[in-house]
Amino acid sequence: MNNIRVIVAGGGIGGLSLALSLHQAGISVRVYEAVREPAPLGIGINLQPTAVRELTELGLGTALATTGIATPRLNVCNKFGQLIHDEPRGLAAGYRWPQYSIHRGKLQLLLLRAARERIGDDNFRCGLKLTEFAQNDRRVRVVFFDRQSRSEVVDDADVLVGADGIHSAVRHRLYPTEGEPRFAQQMLWRAATEAAPFLDGQTMVIAGHFGQRIIVYPIGTASGGKMLINWICQKTVTDRAPPREDWNRRVEKEDVLAAFSTWKFPWLDLPILIKQSPDIYEFPLVDRDPVAAWSFGRVTLLGDAAHPMQPIGGQAGSQAILDARALTRALSETGDPVAALARYDGERRPAMNDIILRNRNLGPEAAMQLAEERAPNGFVHVNDVISRGEIDAITASFAAAAGVDVETVNNRPSYLSPE
Ligand SMILES: Cc1cc2nc3c(=O)[nH]c(=O)nc-3n(C[C@H](O)[C@H](O)[C@H](O)COP(=O)(O)OP(=O)(O)OC[C@H]3O[C@@H](n4cnc5c(N)ncnc54)[C@H](O)[C@@H]3O)c2cc1C
Repeated sequence: MNNIRVIVAGGGIGGLSLALSLHQAGISVRVYEAVREPAPLGIGINLQPTAVRELTELGLGTALATTGIATPRLNVCNKFGQLIHDEPRGLAAGYRWPQYSIHRGKLQLLLLRAARERIGDDNFRCGLKLTEFAQNDRRVRVVFFDRQSRSEVVDDADVLVGADGIHSAVRHRLYPTEGEPRFAQQMLWRAATEAAPFLDGQTMVIAGHFGQRIIVYPIGTASGGKMLINWICQKTVTDRAPPREDWNRRVEKEDVLAAFSTWKFPWLDLPILIKQSPDIYEFPLVDRDPVAAWSFGRVTLLGDAAHPMQPIGGQAGSQAILDARALTRALSETGDPVAALARYDGERRPAMNDIILRNRNLGPEAAMQLAEERAPNGFVHVNDVISRGEIDAITASFAAAAGVDVETVNNRPSYLSPE
């Protein structure tokens, strides 16, 4: 137990994982969340084994297993649904922990329930939005705005962590001239639809190429033998200005169908899936340029506030959880908060900056683009188009850079719990 007190701005996946981790390490924490009543928002998200390991060490392994779908395989296909390569995932790939495909909102509420139970309701304060902060050599003073009562709440602590997402107010104060996120001229249309299972009912599929692709995977079961299937259609758009990122903005089915009406594969009829979807959401493909520092004295950034990345390779949520564990370890092993934040920055930022840039080039999914360039009309044998060696080089280089290869995840020491 040390005497450090931490304020976390943002109760998303990163902020809540941090609260749980700090509590586990005996460090006092209070979370401030801008939303008054957190609801299960979002659709699917992937939790990589490295993050599942951390949540398991926080005692949440069983809750995860009953909430998500353990993903055993990823199929990478061309735009005709032809298989380019498949790779085992999670336990099937030799990890000691599964990969889960899970509803983001359910994951957030699962973490929130656990955090409230452990840190106490009084230390999870909702409806309070960080507006400013100031630090001296002893404390950081943080101001929050309560939109309902139109009043301010002031709190102080040894450390402030901005876990407040891609539009982080903390980051904006550290980098006031940064501006809006960088739009990659692609739109994402996303939904979760109750439908008949495809393939073996567990496999995740990415199909298409850089300019147009789909990502489909089940995130839960539904009645009548159906599954809750998460799908994302992604397409380059050259004729639009970037819309403001809003995870909850709806779009008409017709817009998506117009672009994907021919995507009917022997194993999946995408137009039918689109037609069956009650709500479809639109989100621009955005990230931000890497920054030269996350930690400034007693203030640091975590998760999307620190490294907003394009959602390639299912890394954003998982890496936010890893940030939380690394920051907790630094705070519990380093008595001085400023030194702890500098250590966390040095440990995590270089690899995350690397992922941001790799994801702009399709990251681990680059094999799809090679297949499109070499065989735009499809292929008879995939080996005529792309070699196994090329595929292995693409996937291995990303996994090692992100620290998510089997060897590293299975054998690295635990961040906090002695095994
Ligand atoms: C509503 C929503 C839906 C999403 N849906 C998906 C999805 O379907 N698929 C996917 O892959 N990713 C989704 N994401 C993004 C995904 O959750 C993140 O990329 C990843 O989990 C990293 O989480 P994070 O905690 O860093 O950021 P986030 O999950 O964005 O959480 C940030 C939190 O900070 C709060 N906040 C913002 N500003 C302030 C402030 N000034 N003061 C206090 N609190 C503040 C927000 O309300 C939010 O709860 C969604 C995010 C949100 C907020």
